Amino acid sequence: MKFVDEYRDQAKAEALAQAIARITTKPWSIMEVCGGQTHSIVKYGIDELLPKHISLLHGPGCPVCVTPLELIDKALQIAVQPNVIFCSFGDMLRVPGSAGDLFSAKAKGADVRIVYSPLDALKLARDTPERQVVFFAVGFETTAPANAMAVFQAHAHQVSNFSILVSHVLVPPAITAILSAPDNRTQGFLAAGHVCTVMGFDAYLPLAKRFHVPIVVTGFEPVDILQGILMCVEQLEQGRAEVQNQYARSVQREGNRPAQQLMSQVFRVVARKWRGVGEIPNSGYSLRDTFAAYDAETRFDVAGYHVNEDSECIAGQVLRGVKKPKECPAFGARCTPDRPLGATMVSSEGACAAYYQYRRHEQTSGAAGKRS
Ligand code: SF4
Repeated sequence: MKFVDEYRDQAKAEALAQAIARITTKPWSIMEVCGGQTHSIVKYGIDELLPKHISLLHGPGCPVCVTPLELIDKALQIAVQPNVIFCSFGDMLRVPGSAGDLFSAKAKGADVRIVYSPLDALKLARDTPERQVVFFAVGFETTAPANAMAVFQAHAHQVSNFSILVSHVLVPPAITAILSAPDNRTQGFLAAGHVCTVMGFDAYLPLAKRFHVPIVVTGFEPVDILQGILMCVEQLEQGRAEVQNQYARSVQREGNRPAQQLMSQVFRVVARKWRGVGEIPNSGYSLRDTFAAYDAETRFDVAGYHVNEDSECIAGQVLRGVKKPKECPAFGARCTPDRPLGATMVSSEGACAAYYQYRRHEQTSGAAGKRS
């Protein structure tokens, strides 16, 4: 398949790994921001192709993983109310809240439905005006345009039985928080190509300068990731800290301007809580006053609900690259995909799920097979 096969080419991947090995003279720690990149790295064993000096840290770019416990609890509180149809992408259904998940709420009779677009949920609201239809709007900058469009259309067509539960987070403030932490280990970033397809990459320029870190906008296939790592290592070895674009087949510097305009029309930037990390200033979206009537937190009176995170789950440290999933005492024992303690074990982009799915917990050393 064009644009896929050539980016999974084994010979190209091995040549890139050899090029990285040739130029690496020191240990470097590089974080891939996106959970989709993490899954590619673990699935294809990219980390094991690299020189032993290169350490890949798994970042916070899994929207399901960083949705705070209290948002899951709010979703559950709304979903079980009579007359509500609660719509979500499928990956949120098994994320554990304080007492159960949306899947178990559905099993007990709540009308929880999987949809493939917020516009499907809006259509459902128009087709069933006697019911309240709520969409769980979770995601980074990638999913925000579609959610903004759903609210914009609901407002334009006065669909008053539609609302969204907003859990939108933004990448640049998360990078700032990671680099500002006293226990930070990250020296370079692979930024998420799909986020930059929407937002462009101007927002990363001041971060590269302020923290003196290279940031390479990178795609998701093995050749993309290895090329992104090569570009990052070249900068680190040469003492440069620039923003580069490996994913030029999708990303333009300015991003998708119409999508950005729609998002800023519907959303405003606010502080957001990140699961296991805490509140990060200016790190998420909330609906603007013009669209406040479509805010499910207000409509169902759950805005004031707060709860503390599970202390056993160390997902916050995993999402900041401080620890690997295998370093969690619960990994593969108390916490499995069948009985997860944290969202990173059930999300299709979660680092713990990737390590479990690709059986990293059965290997004696993640460094086995690395080049020296
Ligand atoms: S293995 Fe489970 S408990 Fe440990 S960090 Fe991952 S999700 Fe949390």
